[in-house]
Amino acid sequence: MATVYFDEATRRFSKDDAPAVDGITLDIADGEFLVLVGPSGCGKSTTLRMLAGLEPVDGGRILVDGHDQKGVRPRDRDIAMVFQSYALYPNMSAAQNMAFALDNAKVSKAETKQRVAEAAKILELEQLLDRKPGQMSGGQRQRVAMGRAIVRNPKVFCMDEPLSNLDAKLRVSTRSQIAGLQRRLGITTVYVTHDQVEAMTMGHRVAVLRDGRLQQVDTPERLYDHPVNTFVAAFIGSPAITLVESEVREGVAHVHGVPVPLDRAVAGRAGEKVVVGLRPESWHVVPTPDQRSDGSNGSSSSNGATGIRTDGSLALAVELVESLGAESFVYGRPVDAAEGADRVTVRLDKRTHLTVGDVVHVQPNHGEVHVFDAASGERIE
Ligand code: ATP
Repeated sequence: MATVYFDEATRRFSKDDAPAVDGITLDIADGEFLVLVGPSGCGKSTTLRMLAGLEPVDGGRILVDGHDQKGVRPRDRDIAMVFQSYALYPNMSAAQNMAFALDNAKVSKAETKQRVAEAAKILELEQLLDRKPGQMSGGQRQRVAMGRAIVRNPKVFCMDEPLSNLDAKLRVSTRSQIAGLQRRLGITTVYVTHDQVEAMTMGHRVAVLRDGRLQQVDTPERLYDHPVNTFVAAFIGSPAITLVESEVREGVAHVHGVPVPLDRAVAGRAGEKVVVGLRPESWHVVPTPDQRSDGSNGSSSSNGATGIRTDGSLALAVELVESLGAESFVYGRPVDAAEGADRVTVRLDKRTHLTVGDVVHVQPNHGEVHVFDAASGERIE
């Protein structure tokens, strides 16, 4: 097992372009499962490949257990890589594929056999050891690729989108298998994915990358509850957070005209432009007059111009409903809002039935609002 330390690590493919990986500093603990996540082209694979020695480091350093890896050949790094393509040898059986690296490393035949048998047991591949990759399903091939990494008993696992060739259902079950396996083996793991759900469900910590730069490294809970900027807020969470530009006036911001009370620190920034973020679960439905038991009807009428009612709720015209069984997500546009106004996403429980074209009145929950500086996108505490 090992610690991994990226110290201002940089990779620049050409001197005219911005670096693909731009001064990343990241401290990975012994036995940790660290996920690198971000959109396509943000530098995840390049970061991983630098650690594995498959890509040079143009600036900064990468230390494994405190030792600078500069000049250490990939095969001497004691790092096992699992690729998206699995990279299995088609003419070799599952057992031969798993044994290959050990044969090359001059491990004795008896020990190789034992290690392959152990890995096959862990991965439930015992019945498939004689099959060639072409005779196995995608999920089985994926497990052989994992087995090939496990038999080496490396210091570090590097995994580059190892689940992306599996269908959606298999991906979900395999991700918990890999997370469970990593827990049992306790091997420091760096795992690359563009899928934020995969990142959030598997990682002890998640590092969010954008344009080669590290945005935030945190536990999944903290990333979700405390995103440091609008990019992280929007990238983490599904469906995505609703982000709306606003101005602080008299201690409140406004989301499509609806006042949102702010923490004292933010409320003091009168006149400043901010971006307000509300997650789908940070809204509640306000009953419409005909749903009210007191029979009142006129007190909460919409003022027409913005879809805001006098009780401070926002009227949303429902454009899409995604029903997931236990809950549903409603995507709506403020009634009478200017063209191009952003959609608002609201989570509802299964007792609330809405269809496209309905109007629903919603209000933000107190204390659940994220506020960011409009110019920099940075979180305002
Ligand atoms: P994806 O999720 O699409 O695999 P990624 O986050 O893993 O993307 P990288 O593959 O690390 O991104 O690429 C980062 C940037 O470096 C991209 O802009 C890419 O075009 C560029 N890049 C990657 N490999 C090379 C290369 N061999 N030569 C030149 N540019 C490269």
